Amino acid sequence: MKVRKVPQRKCTICQKTLSKREMLRIVRTPEGEVELDLTGKKNGRGAYICGDAEAFKKARKTKAFERALKVTLSPEQYDNLEQSFLAVQGKFKSVSCGKPDNEQAES
Ligand SMILES: [Zn+2]
Repeated sequence: MKVRKVPQRKCTICQKTLSKREMLRIVRTPEGEVELDLTGKKNGRGAYICGDAEAFKKARKTKAFERALKVTLSPEQYDNLEQSFLAVQGKFKSVSCGKPDNEQAES
């Protein structure tokens, strides 16, 4: 009886479902700060995106975090988040936000 179920989360940007490990959590803390949650355990309302720098750019463009977290983010906050994101992005090399790989290969 050793079924290990990997928790799945849906990307706010592309709606793809991935394991938590392949995703990045953005959290709005009870103090109203918005930050990357690398542990996945911080308190607050969270939104997940693929661990892909493109995903972050899309999120910024479409204000996806702001909608998901019900906050307004300043350009400075975005820059800070982006810096933190880029610092850890190496962990997610195989992840790309968007269509599943097999769909792209078919065309
Ligand atoms: Zn995605």
